[in-house]
Amino acid sequence: MTDSTEPTSTTTVYGTPVVPGVAYAPAAWTRRPPMPPATAPELPEDQREGAVADFDAATKAVADGLFKRASEAEGHVAEVLTVTASLATDRAWKREATGRIRKGTPAVQATMAATEKFIVLFEKAGGLMEERTTDLRDVRDRVIAHLQGQPEPGIPLADHPVVLLADDLSPADTAGLRPELYVAIATQVGGPTSHTSIIARQLGIPCIVAARELDEIPDGAPVLVDAHRGTLTLGVDEAGALQAVAEDAERLKVIRQWHGPAHTADGVPVQLLANVQDGAGAAAAAEGEAEGVGLFRTELLFLNTPVEPSVDSQAESYEPVFAAFPSSKVVVRTLDAGSDKPVPFATLSEEFNPALGVRGIRTTGHNEKLLIHQLDAIAEAAKLQPGTDVWVMAPMVSTIPEAEWFSGLVRERGLKAGIMIEVPSAVILIDQFLEAVDFVSIGTNDLTQYTMAADRMSPHLAEYTDPWQPAVLALIARTAAEGRKQSKPVGVCGEAAADPVLACVLTGMGITSLSMATNAIPPVGAELSQVTMAQCEAAAAAVRGSRDAGAARERARKALGLA
Ligand code: PEP
Ligand code: MG
Repeated sequence: MTDSTEPTSTTTVYGTPVVPGVAYAPAAWTRRPPMPPATAPELPEDQREGAVADFDAATKAVADGLFKRASEAEGHVAEVLTVTASLATDRAWKREATGRIRKGTPAVQATMAATEKFIVLFEKAGGLMEERTTDLRDVRDRVIAHLQGQPEPGIPLADHPVVLLADDLSPADTAGLRPELYVAIATQVGGPTSHTSIIARQLGIPCIVAARELDEIPDGAPVLVDAHRGTLTLGVDEAGALQAVAEDAERLKVIRQWHGPAHTADGVPVQLLANVQDGAGAAAAAEGEAEGVGLFRTELLFLNTPVEPSVDSQAESYEPVFAAFPSSKVVVRTLDAGSDKPVPFATLSEEFNPALGVRGIRTTGHNEKLLIHQLDAIAEAAKLQPGTDVWVMAPMVSTIPEAEWFSGLVRERGLKAGIMIEVPSAVILIDQFLEAVDFVSIGTNDLTQYTMAADRMSPHLAEYTDPWQPAVLALIARTAAEGRKQSKPVGVCGEAAADPVLACVLTGMGITSLSMATNAIPPVGAELSQVTMAQCEAAAAAVRGSRDAGAARERARKALGLA
């Protein structure tokens, strides 16, 4: 028997949570406009130059619009809009389209064909390039709208709070969202590291990606989004849903009031550090609650640098990061060039499988001097900031000789030497690796990618590239246990550290520091402040033997007393 006022049944759609939060509102679907036909009658010769001019004007209008929005935005939103705007001015893409127009293809169809060609190229390149296909499709649709005299496509303005649903969202669409109207986002594709996720994180909008069955949620239906668990539920009791939203608002209040240094509810300190890529980022981290830097991604300074900078000039780039933390720890990672982070002077141009190729410490197999110069520069910068406790680690280490060689070079320069744990081989032989170095830091993004054999940038593999995968958790636990045995620090600096619930599990496993984006520190610190060390240990024990990532999450939440 069912009461007519009670919901008869609920339907739940599962995805990968990327920005935590709870929301309840009607679903609002947004879909890309239908594509014009791929072919059209050939343009007469005397109209072709005019069509090229129209195409140029359309791309310029799109780029100008996006650059203007970028100049009005901040942080990651501005960066992402600039990347999309730059695609609209990309010479090779424009050359491809105008070449086709000059051969008689109408501008709309030439835009579509040129974009298709670049999408194939980007997908082949994989990694970050593949993620940019969403941006390129967005530019295409905007240019076509201009050519057809239509307004640029975008998300229709909501006049009441909605849960925004889409197959995929372009970063340009996401960047303009107002959190009070778009109370949650869910997409059918997209990965945790996609631009859309990054922007949702900055805007603080709860977000779920890779929700394969999202089509089951009809437009307008009230939906409860739990972006802690990655669920969207239809047919829930409204009072219960509103209560869940109110409880989440309380959680946010605790986060806003939280100040470091972090410790558990029973006072056990947990070191929370920042991931940075330059002096400005380090200064922002120092203003916030970070106790130091747990990952300084040096390669990001050089993504557009054609030739290797001199030792002095490198030292000048590193020193502001040390200066931001004049009496704390800064863990510098040597160049992780290659794969999704090509550094022009250090990366091989042709590789079939770049993620399995010459990246990280392996680049030194081709040019050992790169590492020597970088270590000299780090040591030079460290001398200028004698109060900073400089630790240096190498990425992608997979053999003991690499670790021994690297730590020898670092120690010769009077610095602490470590390696990142990103490859399963490093966990398999963790006892020997730890003997060779002073500390290790687990890069869960790559450790997950290599353990699960799943490209971390693929928008189709979010279920696999989830650090809650039990196999990944087992490797982390093993590394932490060996660190304890040898009394050596074991940090985590991948995205896993930024997940407040997982951070409690990692703490319970015996991880000694957690490093994350600066704005992820308060949610993690606040969550740790609510649980005891015994609960963290119980959560670490509870996840053992889970059959999948979802079960591990649920077990941990239960052990931590979270609903
Ligand atoms: C990681 O792999 O988890 C990591 C921190 O390194 P990156 O994300 O820069 O590859
Ligand atoms: Mg890595």
